[in-house]
Amino acid sequence: MTHPIDLDAAWAAFDARDRSADGRFVVAVRTTRIYCKPSCPARRPKRENVEMLGDGPAARAAGYRACLRCRPDDGARDAEAVARAVELLGEATEPTPLAVLAERVGYAPHHFQRLFTRALGVSPAAYARGLRAERATAALNREGSVTEAIYEAGYSGPSGFYAQAAPRLGMTPARARAGGAGTSIGWVVVGTSLGPLLVAATERGLCRVAFEETPDALARRYPQAAIAPGGAELAGLAARVIELVERPTAGGADELPIDVRGTAFQEAVWAALKAIPPGETRSYAELAAAAGNRRAVRAAGSACGANPLAVVVPCHRVLRTGGGAGGYAWGVERKQALIERERG
Ligand SMILES: [Zn+2]
Repeated sequence: MTHPIDLDAAWAAFDARDRSADGRFVVAVRTTRIYCKPSCPARRPKRENVEMLGDGPAARAAGYRACLRCRPDDGARDAEAVARAVELLGEATEPTPLAVLAERVGYAPHHFQRLFTRALGVSPAAYARGLRAERATAALNREGSVTEAIYEAGYSGPSGFYAQAAPRLGMTPARARAGGAGTSIGWVVVGTSLGPLLVAATERGLCRVAFEETPDALARRYPQAAIAPGGAELAGLAARVIELVERPTAGGADELPIDVRGTAFQEAVWAALKAIPPGETRSYAELAAAAGNRRAVRAAGSACGANPLAVVVPCHRVLRTGGGAGGYAWGVERKQALIERERG
């Protein structure tokens, strides 16, 4: 693995004995011919006497020996511990506290948390939450009953199931609207590879599909509606929405019943969005034209932002003129991930 090393940052990390830098590079000392990991407790040599190298093999190839004090090649042991932790989390039926997990693999908790996060990009707790969400989705597809699925996946109950859904950043405020008077809305939160997804429907069709949204937020959006966990029918709809996230090129969005209301122009924009095939994108200007008003480019952008049905109404298929991603109510990273999946 070769990657450029920022020498000033590397020196600063070495000087500070920064453990989070361990594994990113090694520090070779020309005067002693020894190489160390950045956090080595030994006294610091003069900066002009050190050389920053990618890893142990590179240092040995350059004629250095491993420091006996900091054992810079113990990264293999770290990797084994992370792999073992992944195994333990996969077997666990209950949440495993960090202290317990770290002890089982023989590390101090905070050090292990950093190791794990560096290796997998998520903390052990977040990784375990992802596993539970996956199990819930699998159980949901099998069981039909949302509540059973939630318990089967190892959550203590429905509140634990969606407590993990952190408030979304940059969410557009719910527009004031009729509030769903006289309607019943069923909801379920399912796990997807792009995060927890709330799926809600009236008896006529999907009314809300949103990443990282809680049932409480749904209730605020429809203050007059009767809101309750959905049953088998909603589970079936939710399974098809999950397919749109995981296998978008398979299509199927058109067969999903939807029950959404907006202004006439918003509804025209949403219809135009549904007409964009998976794998293709449009500019906001093209979208405005397709919705019947080529001058309403900004309004077309706002209508995308107000889209109540993530993925089902594919507002992620609209890019800025010139190809920039533009905004996305559920996070630009998700938008990019969806576009990449659809392009195969
Ligand atoms: Zn050392």
